[in-house]
Amino acid sequence: MRAQPQASHFIDGAYVEDSAGAPIDVVYAASGETIARLHEATPAVIDCALAAAARAQRDWARLMPVERGRILQRAAAIMRERNRELSVLETLDTGKPLQETLVADATSGADALEYFGGMAATVTGESIPLGRDFVYTIREPLGVCVGIGAWNYPTQIACWKAAPALAFGNAMVFKPSEVTPLCALIVAEILHEAGLPAGLFNVVQGRGAAGASLVTDPRVAKVSLTGSVPTGRKVYAAAAEGVRHVTMELGGKSPLIIFDDASLEDAIGGAMLGNFYSSGQVCSNGTRVFVQRAIKERFLERLKARTEAIAMGDPMDEATQMGPLINAAQMEKVLGYIEAGRNEGARLVTGGARLNGAGYYIQPTVFADVTDTMTIAREEIFGPVMAVLDFDTEEEVIARANDTEFGLSAGVFTSDLTRAHRVVSQLEAGTCWINAYNLAPVEAPFGGSKLSGVGRENSKAAVGHYTQIKSVYVGMGPVDAPY
Ligand code: NAD
Repeated sequence: MRAQPQASHFIDGAYVEDSAGAPIDVVYAASGETIARLHEATPAVIDCALAAAARAQRDWARLMPVERGRILQRAAAIMRERNRELSVLETLDTGKPLQETLVADATSGADALEYFGGMAATVTGESIPLGRDFVYTIREPLGVCVGIGAWNYPTQIACWKAAPALAFGNAMVFKPSEVTPLCALIVAEILHEAGLPAGLFNVVQGRGAAGASLVTDPRVAKVSLTGSVPTGRKVYAAAAEGVRHVTMELGGKSPLIIFDDASLEDAIGGAMLGNFYSSGQVCSNGTRVFVQRAIKERFLERLKARTEAIAMGDPMDEATQMGPLINAAQMEKVLGYIEAGRNEGARLVTGGARLNGAGYYIQPTVFADVTDTMTIAREEIFGPVMAVLDFDTEEEVIARANDTEFGLSAGVFTSDLTRAHRVVSQLEAGTCWINAYNLAPVEAPFGGSKLSGVGRENSKAAVGHYTQIKSVYVGMGPVDAPY
């Protein structure tokens, strides 16, 4: 059985089609075949979605929080029951192998729905004594929130935004990436099957212009974007015009530092996860792998052997470990970076080529002898290309790791835990790992510093990003006026 969206948009509790919108073809990355045709939202469709959200939010905010939470938790249970068919849809939408999607997408979405469902009723204000008088605070919803997604994790991104928004009494209009538009529609279906009242979670399709029109609509209180830094700049600026709340989950060029006392196999495993999972299309990837000089050749030798053993192929085959890039444009972009690596003098250790045949496959690629100024060490590639750089001292590597405009993530592998904490405390990144990489449980805040973003998703931190505080001063005695 396969989850199958019934139309392009999901508005006010039902599927909506409007073929007047420009077509969006969904291409299966493993074959290059068009598997669905959707349509961009016209201004009328966007208006319906925002109107439905604004109307539904008022009653939703007045509901007992525990009732809101129960609906989200029911949706989480449905997602888990339907994990396999949702994973197949995620694979069709993105080309990521089923081996990954079975454990990383609908399951992660369900985690968020479960976590924030449980948290809904725990959000309270505080009471502040002032002697005779006092102040109390109320955590209120923001209103209508807009979510805009990137293409790499369409189910997860929809749920990471919808779950806290809905739990704390907001409504959401979500625009998936035009490249992977299918999964969010099924998330909407499931939320409504779980009992979510119509209008609270709406999905509208479209490219950048559709997203831009949502961001500036006067009915919108908050915008949460997952995307690239250039898009983040535009969306942040547009949201600022209406002084809207924002969460910006943007790109990165994260450092992964491997000291010579680290467990070599664990460090290699971490580096491979942080570069090749989802064909390298993960924002938090540790794409600058700094390896201490004494272990460099041993590291590269084992890394090469393990990388060349990665099973590439049909994403629907559960034995496949790596699938294609998302589309032809991304494949060409990544091949361009591989070319730049070669031209600028990096040493190709393995990979570097496109696979013949259908689909947008690139071999997992490792460059050694990469220097800090090379293009592949400075720009986000978003593909399976690992850059290995050498270093000598702790002080040096911290300075070089921080020498980037991004600040999403960072990792350290070492058996000296004192050093691990000392190094992490100096790294300019929103999310760090010690002797692990790229794990993002819903319990932990996730997000970036510097150009990589503003705000945090997941964890208790999300409360502050989907609510606002009302402060109420209560006078308990006569008003002391000098007039
Ligand atoms: P993108 O920036 O091209 O697009 C992201 C979304 O923004 C899409 O839905 C797109 O239609 C929309 N958009 C584009 N222009 C817009 C505008 N002017 N106004 C409103 N919306 C607009 O990103 P992408 O190529 O889909 O995704 C890859 C990028 O996302 C990478 O840089 C990656 O690092 C980043 N990313 C970040 C995280 C994170 O949590 N930090 C997670 C996943 C991906």
